[in-house]
Amino acid sequence: MVLYHLSVMVNMTQRTAWVKDEIRNLRETGRYVPIRTLESPQGARIIIAGKEYINMCSNNYLGLANHPEVKKATIDAVEKFGVGAGAVRSIAGTNSLHIRLEEKVAAFKHMESSLVYQGGLLANLGTIPVLVGKDDIVFSEELNHASIIDGVRLSSATRIVYKHLDTEDLRAKLKNQRKDGKRALIITDGVFSMDGDIAPLDRITELGEEFDAMVYVDDAHGEGVLGKNGRGIVDHFGLAGRVDIEMGTFSKAMGTMGGFVAGSKDLMDYTKQRSRPFLFSSALNPGDTASVFKSIEIMERDDTLLKKLWDNSRLLKDSLSKIGYNIGSSKTPITPVIVGDEKKTLDLSNELFSKYSIFASPIVFPTVAKGMARIRLMPSALHSANDIGVTVDAFEKAGKVLRIIQ
Ligand SMILES: *Cc1c(COP(=O)(O)O)cnc(C)c1O
Repeated sequence: MVLYHLSVMVNMTQRTAWVKDEIRNLRETGRYVPIRTLESPQGARIIIAGKEYINMCSNNYLGLANHPEVKKATIDAVEKFGVGAGAVRSIAGTNSLHIRLEEKVAAFKHMESSLVYQGGLLANLGTIPVLVGKDDIVFSEELNHASIIDGVRLSSATRIVYKHLDTEDLRAKLKNQRKDGKRALIITDGVFSMDGDIAPLDRITELGEEFDAMVYVDDAHGEGVLGKNGRGIVDHFGLAGRVDIEMGTFSKAMGTMGGFVAGSKDLMDYTKQRSRPFLFSSALNPGDTASVFKSIEIMERDDTLLKKLWDNSRLLKDSLSKIGYNIGSSKTPITPVIVGDEKKTLDLSNELFSKYSIFASPIVFPTVAKGMARIRLMPSALHSANDIGVTVDAFEKAGKVLRIIQ
């Protein structure tokens, strides 16, 4: 593969020179994360700078990002509809692929209706401010994803943060403060992306019913992973019809790009009139829209990939625990190898990369709390038992050299 490096000599202004100090500060505190460039499709093995690595950090849970049927669906859609959506959804950007996908997502999620966005982040930024405003109150889980935090900020609603997985704390806060808002919203990640644990959505739903608060779950890491055929967390807990808003992404298990919210027909209808990314940012492209439709068809018809994903996850977790690593209390394929110290985590990641050809990216502050730095491993349906074995072996050797394990 040929890489073209186009470098142009330009003398930039000096008014942004302050960033040099900021970058130095990030480097000195072990928070400057190198960004690798892939030269191959997503898969269990990937090519970086001409060399093959075992890929342990993509969200491509089911391997659909490079699935032949999904690629074919994308190519066919491009042939038929072209490459660009051409406009925002509310003007001339809605095409029949969007409508077909919205019906598919609603059916897959057992919801009345759904609305397709250009990304999961945008789905949160766009939808939360439609649901609540300055007279309202949001009860938000402590470890919610950044896009939820930002969506709540954009809404101007009062924000009450409740403790991670702690429904007693949530109940106490609802009891004391529900009355402070006209409308109330409880919002939570379904699966927590850095720890892999699962929100107690059954209990949260009951609390929503008891205190007249809408319940909104972000299922980005639950889709394709939890529930029958990967329908997600609402299906996992058997809560169909009781959760008000389910939000998700097409960029993880579904392998492509885009996001959605699902809920009542009226709510989706109203969201189309009010949501700013829907009104002010161009629609999801035809190729991506068609590829997601195909991904869901594959998930509905066959759960072989889902089973393989879970087999690999169990193997990886059992093996890492056995050699003495702290892998937290994940209940899903997300496998955090918690090292703690930022610099040590970067060293481990670098050692795995340069000596053992394992691509396992470090996760440091501010993505996780200070002192909770980790390598987050993401097994997929594409890995072989051998890939997992080679990875665990490398973790054992590198961890001993760096005195992370005994
Ligand atoms: C990845 C993720 C998102 C953002 O989804 P994109 O489609 O990548 O924008 C939102 N919420 C959670 C919990 C996520 O993990």
